[in-house]
Amino acid sequence: MHFNQSEHLYKEAKEHIVGGVNSPSRAYKGVGGGTPVYMDRAEGSRFYDVDGNEYIDYLGAYGPIITGHAHPHITEAITKAAQNGVLYGTPTVLENRFAKMLKEAIPSLDKVRFVNSGTEAVMTTIRVARAYTGRNKIIKFAGCYHGHSDLVLVAAGSGPATLGTPDSAGVPASIAQDVITVPFNDIEPFKQAIEKFGDEIAGVLVEPIVGNFGIVEPKPGFLQEVNKLTHDAGALVIYDEVITAFRFTYGSAQQLLDIEPDMTAMGKIIGGGLPIGAYGGRADIMEQVAPLGPAYQAGTMAGNPASMSAGIACLEVLQEQGVYEEMDRLGSRLEKGILERAEEHGIQIQINRLKGALTVYFTDEKVENYEQAENTDGEQFARFFKLMLAEGINLAPSKYEAWFLTTAHTDEDIDQTLTAVEKTFRTMAN
Ligand code: PLP
Repeated sequence: MHFNQSEHLYKEAKEHIVGGVNSPSRAYKGVGGGTPVYMDRAEGSRFYDVDGNEYIDYLGAYGPIITGHAHPHITEAITKAAQNGVLYGTPTVLENRFAKMLKEAIPSLDKVRFVNSGTEAVMTTIRVARAYTGRNKIIKFAGCYHGHSDLVLVAAGSGPATLGTPDSAGVPASIAQDVITVPFNDIEPFKQAIEKFGDEIAGVLVEPIVGNFGIVEPKPGFLQEVNKLTHDAGALVIYDEVITAFRFTYGSAQQLLDIEPDMTAMGKIIGGGLPIGAYGGRADIMEQVAPLGPAYQAGTMAGNPASMSAGIACLEVLQEQGVYEEMDRLGSRLEKGILERAEEHGIQIQINRLKGALTVYFTDEKVENYEQAENTDGEQFARFFKLMLAEGINLAPSKYEAWFLTTAHTDEDIDQTLTAVEKTFRTMAN
């Protein structure tokens, strides 16, 4: 396998595009550098790169691609939308249809609003929570990514009851001071933060099932305690379901876990591969948003016919009988197969899996919070990633990301992947 064309394109890209990429995670920094592979075409579970190499894809474009690439039903919907004109700047029938579909799928959504990305969706829920409560501060959990707005690019202070510091140049300290970051799956620090800042907290931002330091489920009772303490403090619970909405079930993580937030942010899957975000929640909260209320939010591209059509088509595919069960079955085969091969070759790994999403951590400790994910072996992961790529398996280039199965993956894909895992672990063991 060679990557000559990718190398050439990356060199060219670096002359014109900052860092050669349009999103930093694509630059293989998380796996010790190298040339990112330039994909040329994608279909079903497969990628084809510019050098003629073929891969089984588990990146799923970082989550949105749950029906496999170029799914015919979604492609047809996008084509039709393009033929009818891509952008009107007026309301459309499609927006009503899609809003109704989302509401039917996720009962906590009385009202929704479409935006263009997960970042926008989360950013706006924070504004709305502030408008509703008349307060400014936000609590979030360490290691959870909520997009790149100033409000959430904030690192933890030195303890649970301390204010945050900017996690990116250009984020003002004054903004970071309104954000408190506490560990996931540990209620005590959260309690302390609520005790100290309770009457200043507008909202608590939660990935109910974490997707950003691998797939990490909440411990039993953790989210219930978070809900109770938040509501007792007069603040709102905001679920960031940008990764989780429609990932594990037709609906959201909140249904899977039988718990309701006050507001929900979504993105990724609901756009069927086109740019989208959406947020929604209780009617009295959502009525804060313009034109009904004083919290302003707008968007030239928001609710555009192409994204609406792709999103509707994607959910239609996900309504088909048995699709989630099949991703779960294949996920289970993959998990078992990887674990068996790791044991055989004496490679220490832990796998967190929920249905069709899993993370392979190079560690002997179960991963339940960010610190544990941070402590996993990044060098071993980087080696694994590169060897797997050379075997034709495309994973996310970071030890913190998940493998995503799609409705297009097959038993044959799993067999081929496990053969690659076998070879990779054998090489790593020597
Ligand atoms: N929230 C979560 C949980 C995410 O994983 C992401 C992106 O990875 C975002 C928000 C931001 O979404 P986007 O990249 O569409 O702006």
